[in-house]
Amino acid sequence: MKNNYPIIFLVLFITGGLILNFCHEKSVVKQHGRLSVKGTRLLNANGDPVVLRGVSLGWHNWWPKFWNADAVKWLRDDWKITVLRAAMGIEPDSAYLDMPEHAKGLMKTVVEACIDQGIYVIIDWHDHHAENHIEEAKAFFIDMAKAYGEHPNIIYEIYNEPVRQDWALVKAYSDTLITAIRQYDPDNIILIGNPHWDQDVHIVADDPIREHINLMYTLHFYAVTHRQWLRDRGDYALSKGIPIFVSESDGCNSSGQDKLDMEEWNLWIDWMGKNQISWVKWSISDKQETCSALRPGADPKGGWSLDKLSESGVKAREFIRRFNK
Ligand code: MG
Repeated sequence: MKNNYPIIFLVLFITGGLILNFCHEKSVVKQHGRLSVKGTRLLNANGDPVVLRGVSLGWHNWWPKFWNADAVKWLRDDWKITVLRAAMGIEPDSAYLDMPEHAKGLMKTVVEACIDQGIYVIIDWHDHHAENHIEEAKAFFIDMAKAYGEHPNIIYEIYNEPVRQDWALVKAYSDTLITAIRQYDPDNIILIGNPHWDQDVHIVADDPIREHINLMYTLHFYAVTHRQWLRDRGDYALSKGIPIFVSESDGCNSSGQDKLDMEEWNLWIDWMGKNQISWVKWSISDKQETCSALRPGADPKGGWSLDKLSESGVKAREFIRRFNK
């Protein structure tokens, strides 16, 4: 018996290796690899359609406590998310313009956690007036493209939600940002915003950006406020060959409040399913509001039992788990 330790260690080493390999194999990024866009569809590395479903972290300047690798891992393992959106606030106090290194540090933590854990991650410039911050946005996305552009996990969202700016202005901003990113990353998906909080995809449809590849256009819905009329705009955009990515959504109203409208939210889920549109729920925070996924006091590191989730958190988790096994 006295000399069995080397054998025991060898067996443990091999078993550990097999377990790690198994974990790696189940990664959605390992499964789908590098994404591309063809027509209205998001495709995986084999050229097959892929639909991503997940959640957005809340503004980093207000909810930094949830920007950590443990929370990301919990969302992957328990919610079965395949994409996480990192909403990096730009304009408020303590956000990017105020404290860029702090913001970049949190973004780096989340992006690297998503890479480690094999899910897709949206690097979101969470701005409502990005045309006023072009130089800052360019410098940030160039940094991100240089650091992470080789990884298939990365999706760039260059303008969260324009407000009343017109499409010509948002289009010009987008072209500048896309050109900057493409110097260092020729291929990862870039999400493009559009006027009125990403509700004007019908205007984009008549005048899309034609010079670049692997672009998708964001549509945001909050089901109490945004109903069939916005799905009609989406249908029109799809009919014109415009690829749509729903990078924010929920069953509440556009202020994040009100009672969930489950009938309408289900209509959206059906519409996105029918059109193979990827979607993200807003958001991981524990603010006392309908669209926040967590109840006040939820552990920043995950491990949330269902009673730590808000009603919208419970429903969104169910939707995601229904599709992402
Ligand atoms: Mg790349």
